[in-house]
Amino acid sequence: MTQPALTSLSEDERLFRDSVYEFANREIRPLVREMDERAKIPPALVEQLFELGVMNIEIPEEFGGSGASFFHSVLAVEALSRVDPAIAVMVDVQNTLVINALQCWGNDLLRRTYLPRLAKNTVGAYALSEAGSGSDAFSLATRAVERGDSWMLSGRKMWISNALEAGLFIVFATVDPAAGYRGITAFVVERNAPGLSIGKKEDKLGIRASSTCELIFDDCRVPARNVLGDVGKGYKVAIETLNEGRIGIGAQMIGLAQGALDHTIAYVKERKQFGQHISEFQAVQHQIARAATDLEAARMLVYNAARLRDAGQPFLTEAAMAKLFTSEMAERVTSLAVNLYGGYGFVKDYPVEKLYRDAKIGQIYEGTSNLQLQTIAKRVIG
Ligand SMILES: Cc1cc2nc3c(=O)[nH]c(=O)nc-3n(C[C@H](O)[C@H](O)[C@H](O)COP(=O)(O)OP(=O)(O)OC[C@H]3O[C@@H](n4cnc5c(N)ncnc54)[C@H](O)[C@@H]3O)c2cc1C
Repeated sequence: MTQPALTSLSEDERLFRDSVYEFANREIRPLVREMDERAKIPPALVEQLFELGVMNIEIPEEFGGSGASFFHSVLAVEALSRVDPAIAVMVDVQNTLVINALQCWGNDLLRRTYLPRLAKNTVGAYALSEAGSGSDAFSLATRAVERGDSWMLSGRKMWISNALEAGLFIVFATVDPAAGYRGITAFVVERNAPGLSIGKKEDKLGIRASSTCELIFDDCRVPARNVLGDVGKGYKVAIETLNEGRIGIGAQMIGLAQGALDHTIAYVKERKQFGQHISEFQAVQHQIARAATDLEAARMLVYNAARLRDAGQPFLTEAAMAKLFTSEMAERVTSLAVNLYGGYGFVKDYPVEKLYRDAKIGQIYEGTSNLQLQTIAKRVIG
């Protein structure tokens, strides 16, 4: 049987991706600059994302979701990132981390309680990092102490995407610091849980419209039934969801680079120097050809990792490679875009300046490039 190309999409996947991209062009593009400047997503846009069906992609239909695949999440994140990678973060965290964690690790009660809310109108956030624990995530210090039929959480989380808009948080805390990673436990925490407050909102280089905040837990009461997975097994929840999350970041990076390349190709066909379009210079053509090749290779890594995940096959190394390569590719491609716009690439009146800033985060969150290299090296060297 002839195998289709790695980047082939089914009819349904293509229609889905095109509808998300069309929405992004129509509804998001006009808001991009203002959202970046004000560092805020309008609540009406969040509602529209729910209506569009991109906030509940893998939630089964019986819980009000779309019942689609992980690959659909990748397509949605890619299509949104072509227009605004900051909006894509909200969709990415919701699907690849929060819903994914609940689907894989939630018992019947948790799934029935929270998936319908996430499907309808509740934004989710994923709280692992702290001021003192980033790459070394399992050295986290947030404590959970059992009291009656509740757990009391105390500590601070940092860098939490979606924190401002979220109604639900997946929070990692330790029930026994002496046990190391075996003390880590995942909890489902509602926004109005007593003792939870949102702290400082970060003022960022890129993806500025996406909220990134501190979370403060001051004897925050969480019902015992809201433990996600088993007590002491939170490290597994984190490791497994982040493996999938990394493919989502890869999707964000390829969408972002595609957006930058689209703008650049249009620009070089318009801009004239030395009496001709700059697209007619072979040096420029070759730079764009190289960027397009870089992007195609990156897309294949992302799609392959996502297809492996949907097929239930191992994808750990592939996901790490996809995140590593796509985030470096996005920096290269957006940097070229700025160069080819010349001085206009350096100012906010043109779109590539923002995409260049947005690209940087890909090498930092959900495991820095050095951490991805570590994962890949472990597999290939042993
Ligand atoms: C905009 C944004 C959004 C985020 N969203 C979330 C979120 O929603 N939820 C969440 O839990 N976290 C989130 N994070 C946190 C993010 O995952 C961490 O910032 C990231 O994991 C890196 O941790 P760190 O900042 O503590 O850096 P560090 O771990 O201190 O790393 C600093 C440098 O040291 C290097 N390094 C560290 N250890 C090693 C090693 N063993 N070998 C080689 N090099 C090493 C790193 O590669 C890096 O270059 C977000 C961060 C940002 C900036």
